[in-house]
Order: sequence, then structure tokens, then C-alpha cells
Amino acid sequence: MDTATVLQADPSIPIESLYVGGTWRPATSGSTFEVHDPATGAPLATVADAGGVDAEAAIEAAASAFPEWSVRTAYERAAVLQAAHRLMCERTEELARLMTAEQGKPLRAARTEVRYAADFLLWFAEEAKRVYGRTIPSARSDQRFIVMEQPVGVVGAITPWNYPISMITRKVAPALAAGCSVVLKPAEQTPLCAIAVFRILEEAGVPAGVANLVTARDPKPVGEALLTHRSVAKLTFTGSTEVGKFLAARAADQMKRVSLELGGHAPFIVFPDADPVHAAKGAALVKLLNTGQACISPNRLYVHRSIADEFVETLRRRVESMKAGRGVDDGVSVGPLIDGSAFSRMQAQVSDAVRKGATVVTGGHRLTGDGLDGGWFFAPTVVTGVTPDMTMYREETFGPIAPVVTFESEAEVIEMANDTRYGLASYVYTKDLARALRTAEALRFGMVGINDINPTSAAAPFGGRGESGLGREGAQEGIREYLETKLVGLSI
Ligand code: ADP
Repeated sequence: MDTATVLQADPSIPIESLYVGGTWRPATSGSTFEVHDPATGAPLATVADAGGVDAEAAIEAAASAFPEWSVRTAYERAAVLQAAHRLMCERTEELARLMTAEQGKPLRAARTEVRYAADFLLWFAEEAKRVYGRTIPSARSDQRFIVMEQPVGVVGAITPWNYPISMITRKVAPALAAGCSVVLKPAEQTPLCAIAVFRILEEAGVPAGVANLVTARDPKPVGEALLTHRSVAKLTFTGSTEVGKFLAARAADQMKRVSLELGGHAPFIVFPDADPVHAAKGAALVKLLNTGQACISPNRLYVHRSIADEFVETLRRRVESMKAGRGVDDGVSVGPLIDGSAFSRMQAQVSDAVRKGATVVTGGHRLTGDGLDGGWFFAPTVVTGVTPDMTMYREETFGPIAPVVTFESEAEVIEMANDTRYGLASYVYTKDLARALRTAEALRFGMVGINDINPTSAAAPFGGRGESGLGREGAQEGIREYLETKLVGLSI
């Protein structure tokens, strides 16, 4: 496969993008919607626009396929996931190019994401074989206790556009490994990456109905079907905190299981014993990862007053040297924002901060000319003098803005870092081992990177606390989200 097999020569010819019960088909209503390249605004493809009736068909297909899939051996399920892993690795370049076209991230970052996505297929192929139960001694000599771990059932999965391939495999791989069947609704901005992943699953031998794909422009009718259909046992969602809360509240009506990966507001703490230049280089890289459109993006850079000038100067130079543009062009490391509303949010956060006394050290405006006019490009931005009354101090930015705040003491910075309703990623720069551990223990976040800007891996549990969500993805924990524990008590 190359991207040409996902993208039609004529983008106005609709792709049959619903994969239901092992068949690719259009929406029942015949509705379609267009997908655009965010770097240029050019139409890329037309895909099926599913409604509630299509989602119900997909759920029913998943429910029919579940009994047979759930009793396959872990080794059989693993073999299918291993085949999918091989195919995804072979197609890294094609998938990366498709992702860059559809989502905008630079090609190098897209390749990295495809490899990360493939890692989940292999990791959970292996974890499928390690779904251990246990026996428990009873107080009665004629009794035995056996604990079984069984697949939860049909899973509804909803994924975002910012990591359009890895967020799919991070859910679908553990669900399939556990013996569940799945109905996936990808983000309306990035259905093409989802189609490419499902073509791989099909080719890898996932049986008809075990994995179903429903693309839709309006997420609500499909979401409603996933929330209300009795056959859906579990909902797994990655996206905004606002939508996550809505889905969790509605899922409670039927006590469906939920896993939620929601927004973040990561603190990035640079202690006075850290090398400010090294820390600033790290900050620039992780802040501009995916143009800041990542839930683990640092949103509050706390720098000790004694090294703040050097840190800010290095950060400024670094972000100014990063080239914005179309992800397919050489040397580009900052892609476009996903859409105009993301751009308006950047503008609003910067003008709110400036009105309240902050200083824009660099950036703060739209980038135009030089082939950038068709996309929403926002200049990498560094803001100093940020205070708690500013929107960017409280709300997730999800864009290329680095707000810098200075601090004096360890106790003060821990308190400031924890003063958020979110609790996903956090970062600490220090050379003092005791301080590193003290801080890691004190931060109320699901993940702490110590002198490390990328504390993520298919082998490591990813997830947050507070309003950043529920549950963990990846690692041993990732498959447990798709299992129910059953106790068997036996009189002998
Ligand atoms: P973002 O603001 O990053 O686009 P969203 O939370 O709006 O984040 O979107 C993440 C995913 O949730 C997407 O697949 C989107 O279509 C889906 N989504 C948004 N609103 C709903 C809803 N009411 N019901 C079901 N899915 C939804």
C-alpha cells in the first residue's frame, strides 16, 4: 500500500471508509465529508459521513464477532497483532506521508509516530500472553478461589487528530489482545490515517467484525450510539477534558467502563542547579513537538530566578531557529495548527497575557507569506512575566506558546506546579538526586520526566490524574483496561 491507495486520484470521489463486519462501505445515508491538508487548506479526500445507524451496525457486528474472538488463544490473537506490526513497520514511509498531509506534522515526527504506533501492536501482542489469573488460599479446606481475567466485551473507542495513528493502536492493540472487539470513531480531521490503520488490521487477519471503523464529520450521533447501545461494555477516549467529562457522565447511565486520556497542563521546572542552556534546549523541543498540540506539552515553564535570563535567551534563540512550514519540506520542524479555532485560541491567550502585564519575547503572531498563507501557522512564542490570573497559566494552550514564570524556592514551585485541575505530564530539571526524587514524589501528575523530555514508551504507563483522566495506556496496565476480573469460588 502507498498513500495513493488511501487517497484517490480525484479527491472528490468518496472513499468507502466505513469498515463494518469486515466490509468497506459508504454511509447508509450516502453522506460524505471532505478532509483537508491543514498546511495548505487543499482538499485531500472525501470520506463517508456515518450516522447513528451506521454506528449501531458496527456495534452489532462487533457484538457478533466477540464470542469467537474472545475464546481464541492468546497466541492466535498475538499472531494477528504481530502481522499488523510487521505491515505497519514496512509501510512507515507511506503512513508518515499520509499523516503529514492530513495532520500537518513534519515528516520526521510523523515517522517517529508511526514507529511508536507500531510499538503498541508488538507490545500488546506480547502482553496478550501474560494475562495471568491467580489462585487464592481459602480459610475453608474444602474451598478454592480462582481469579480469572476476561475480556470486557465490545469496546467503543474515540480518538483525536493530534496523534492520528498511535492513539488508535494504543487502544485497539490492547483491546484486541485482551479478546475484545472494537468500534472506533477517529477524529473528523484525520479519518484517512484511521482508514490506513484499519486496512492493515484487515490485511493482518483480524476477523470480520472484530475491528470496525466509523468515520463521521459530526461525532455526536456516533458517540450517542456508543453511549447508549447495551452491547458496548467499555468506552475508551482520548481528547479534551470537556468532552471526556461529558462521555464519562453519560457512560455512567449504564455503568459502562471508561478509560479517559484528557487534557494536560504540564509544569516544566528548572531548578537553580540545572544547566539552563540544556534545559532550555529540552523545553524548546518538547514545547514545539507537534506544534505544541500534545497533551504532554509543557504549559508552564517555572525557572529559578537566578538562571531565568540565560534560560529565556536560549529558549528564544532555539524557537526562532525552528523553521515553520509544510511538513513535507526539508528542514521544517514546526507545522501548522490544526484549524482556525486553534489559531484564535493562541491569539486570545497572548492578548489576554499582554493585557495583564506579560511580555512577548518572541512570536505571538500568525506567520504568513513564503507558502504559509493557506494554513494556520503561529510563530513559536515565548512569553515572560506570566501570572496566575492569565488564561495561559490556567488553561491548556495546545499550541506553540511557552509561558515562563520565575520562582525562588522548591516549596513554592511545587505548590505552583500542583495548583492545577490537570495532572498528566510534568518535567523537572535538576542535577541534585535527592531533589529530583523529592520533587517526583511531590508532583501530583501521572508522569514525571527528570532531565527527560520524553517519558513515554509503549512499555510505560501513560495517563493522568485529576481532570487529566482515568486509567493508563501502554505497559502492563494498558491491557488491564480491557479486562474484567472474575472470581470463581469452588467447593470440593
Ligand atoms: P479536540 O478539541 O482536540 O478536537 P475533542 O475532545 O473535541 O478534542 O475531540 C476528540 C475526539 O472526540 C474526536 O474524535 C471528536 O470527534 C470526539 N468527540 C467530540 N465531541 C464528541 C461527542 N459529543 N461525542 C463523541 N465524541 C466526540
